[in-house]
Amino acid sequence: MSNNGFSTTILHSDRRGGVEHGGVHKPLHPSSEYAYTDARELAAVFQGKAGYTYARQGTPTTGALEAKITQMEGGVSSVSFATGMAALTATFFTLLKKGDHLISSQYIFGNTNSLLGTLSDLGVEVTLVDATDVEQVKAARRPQTRMVFTETIANPGTQIADLKGIGQWCQEQGLVYVLDSTLSTPWLCRGVDVGASLVVNSMSKYIGGHGHALGGAVTDTGLFDWSVYPNIAEPYRKGNPTSWGLTQIKKKGLRDMGGTLSSDAAHRIAVGAETLSLRMDKACSNAMALATYLGQHPRVKLVRYPGLVSHAQHQRAADLFSGRFGALLGVELAADLDVFDFLNRLKVLVLATHLGDTRTLVLPVAHTIYYEMGPERRALMGIGDNLLRISVGIEDTEDLIKDFEQALST
Ligand SMILES: *Cc1c(COP(=O)(O)O)cnc(C)c1O
Repeated sequence: MSNNGFSTTILHSDRRGGVEHGGVHKPLHPSSEYAYTDARELAAVFQGKAGYTYARQGTPTTGALEAKITQMEGGVSSVSFATGMAALTATFFTLLKKGDHLISSQYIFGNTNSLLGTLSDLGVEVTLVDATDVEQVKAARRPQTRMVFTETIANPGTQIADLKGIGQWCQEQGLVYVLDSTLSTPWLCRGVDVGASLVVNSMSKYIGGHGHALGGAVTDTGLFDWSVYPNIAEPYRKGNPTSWGLTQIKKKGLRDMGGTLSSDAAHRIAVGAETLSLRMDKACSNAMALATYLGQHPRVKLVRYPGLVSHAQHQRAADLFSGRFGALLGVELAADLDVFDFLNRLKVLVLATHLGDTRTLVLPVAHTIYYEMGPERRALMGIGDNLLRISVGIEDTEDLIKDFEQALST
């Protein structure tokens, strides 16, 4: 639409989409239904013409946010959902059928892992592989393989899959490549640049960024040829095949399943998205400073952060994310420190789940998000009792370091 940069494009997207009453923000449209004065126009919108009918399938406000996400990703179109999990559910459940095979990274968000369990209960075969190595992804290929899934930076282990290698192989094999970009955001890495077919973003995290709205989005990069995909239902095999996949996700995954983003949440997320690049840069530099400080601290056993040269995929991360390394740290405290007493001494960091907030959040993972899994699986995944997940925010760097300093020195 324009040759403006990332932030300029987001900031001026609403104006370029058509100003209402001079407002620089797209207005918040709470209407559930959208009325027409011409019955033929009403029928045309039901039959595929752009427009609004019932808010379960979107409103002008969610549409304005979808336009921003599409521009950020350099994609062709996006559909928004109530949460990131709703976006993932819609993607997997509308594009895969019983008997199909999905190859997924084994380093994924716990709730996504649980969702893949539900998918396999319904007859989709799922193979988990170490996606940091493209050879392992290739080795899992079966005749029924339809889709490959990975996160960009894994939550919480920070492993970086071979995003480009997988993208290239999926294109050669004609497989749908779904990328969960939540931890890197399109500011660090665009799915279209690594060969992804679809990009999922939890907008509850960095894109919204202020811990006050949930949302998710699926973006089609335009790279996949849906005319050769067998699971597209007859009514959606119309017009330009580029739109077929997302049309099916929207019709079956949003209209039928109903995990719809509200206009209210869409508006808050859109305001947050205006400062994504600024917040991400600050959070990434804070994370680098903290990782460096903690990596040298005698009472810290291990720091997992892609920005450290000790990280197994440090060079890959440097190449993919143009010198930024995300804002999520895994920090294992020395065994002689009591993790609960340590956490109780923190004054600036917030003891809370969630990530991608402006505030720095910390969570003892074995005792919280990985508790349900039990000690054996935790041991297999390398999740010790003293492992913390830290989602670094945009506070003043010295305040974060000082908070760790005092809590570690007692
Ligand atoms: C949080 C998260 C999700 C789910 O997003 P919600 O908006 O909380 O449903 C999906 N993937 C990753 C990598 C996440 O961190």
